[in-house]
Amino acid sequence: MITYQEALRKILEQVAPLPQTRLKLDSLLGSFLSQPVIAKFALPRFDNSAVDGFGLLCSDLEGASAAKPAQLQLIGEVKAGSPDEFKLSTGTALKILTGARVPSSVEAVVMKEYCEEHYGFVHVSRSASPGDNIRRVGAEFKAGDQVLPAGVRVNPPVIGLLANFGYSSFTAHTKPRVAIVTTGDELIQPGHQLAQGQIYDSNSYALQAALASLGIDEWFIHHARDTKKSTKQAFNFAMEQADVIISSGGVSVGDHDYVKLTLEEMGVQTEFWRIAVKPGKPVYFGTLEQPRRKQKKLIFGLPGNPVSVLVTFNEFVKPALMKLMGNSDDQPKHLSAILTKSLRKQAGRLDLVRGVLNVNEKGQMIVHPTLGQESHMLSGLALADCLIHFNSELELLSEGSNVPVEILNWNG
Ligand code: AMP
Ligand code: MG
Repeated sequence: MITYQEALRKILEQVAPLPQTRLKLDSLLGSFLSQPVIAKFALPRFDNSAVDGFGLLCSDLEGASAAKPAQLQLIGEVKAGSPDEFKLSTGTALKILTGARVPSSVEAVVMKEYCEEHYGFVHVSRSASPGDNIRRVGAEFKAGDQVLPAGVRVNPPVIGLLANFGYSSFTAHTKPRVAIVTTGDELIQPGHQLAQGQIYDSNSYALQAALASLGIDEWFIHHARDTKKSTKQAFNFAMEQADVIISSGGVSVGDHDYVKLTLEEMGVQTEFWRIAVKPGKPVYFGTLEQPRRKQKKLIFGLPGNPVSVLVTFNEFVKPALMKLMGNSDDQPKHLSAILTKSLRKQAGRLDLVRGVLNVNEKGQMIVHPTLGQESHMLSGLALADCLIHFNSELELLSEGSNVPVEILNWNG
């Protein structure tokens, strides 16, 4: 058995970012940009109004108040998107709507709430300073500025920024093609009747959701019965289609656990099998050289228990997928929280305890282990928002002590 750190190191040293590709905006979410984003033009692109109101000259409002409003003649209206040009002169005003281009003669925009319209005139009940409510051209970016550096993960505001500049697509690292292989004669698809001894396949659905949460949008699914032939067939299909293969079950020491044996017969290089981590002891990791490609195929044999498969996905597969997608910050980050209930175990394995974070009345972060910590009890993981790292050599984490906590982030 190897340690958690060693397993993670062995995985990450086999991974390099995939080549770049051009992706449409609707496929970019979750990707890492492979080039900086440059401002194609100034942003805002033109002076525009931050409010619905009236554009005017500040000198026309001197001494204006609710009791003694200034009366200005309306010479027109500028709506968002309207190209009309107007020139203000003393005693005149323009109706201007949010986002509309502000003509250069307008000194300030006064919010509608301080104005009243009357038969071609507007009564303004306050004074204004030059620039009020005007968003200036180039206030955020000048043309040619770097908007975002390469390597940024695409989140919703990044998509918005790209669209702001008129990009309909952008370059990012290719997302890995992934295949999921479920194993087990007992598995039935949800929606069908269960016979005695059968259970529903939950892992393939949970793993698909885990991939989708990372921004991966394409995967293949195969099922292997508990025979060598079926296992080989499923992995053969998976290897043809995918860069990363994730299997569930069949990787322990049972009589019908064919994953490791089959992969080795197919030429997969075993990098490790079995780790000192709970849940997740039987995790397997192997690599396969690919003709004409630098990046080897990565094969993860995850355990079958529903909690183990997701926890080990989170700890070992997610960092690999993220690095393939271009993530350069692959060191796990832990925060510290006060444990609300003592935990005990035997020394020898890192225990990843499902927990819920909260803040106590002193504003300190506290962590409470969830009920249902056994590896077939998914509810404890479903309700958890963190994993307490109960380190290998320790046997006791006392109530009230500070413990290392990893935030469970299914998005990466
Ligand atoms: P195994 O490692 O194949 O012995 O599987 C360990 C446990 O996980 C067994 O109780 C299996 O029935 C269960 N299991 C395996 N694959 C799945 C799956 N796809 N969905 C739900 N449970 C599974
Ligand atoms: Mg099995």
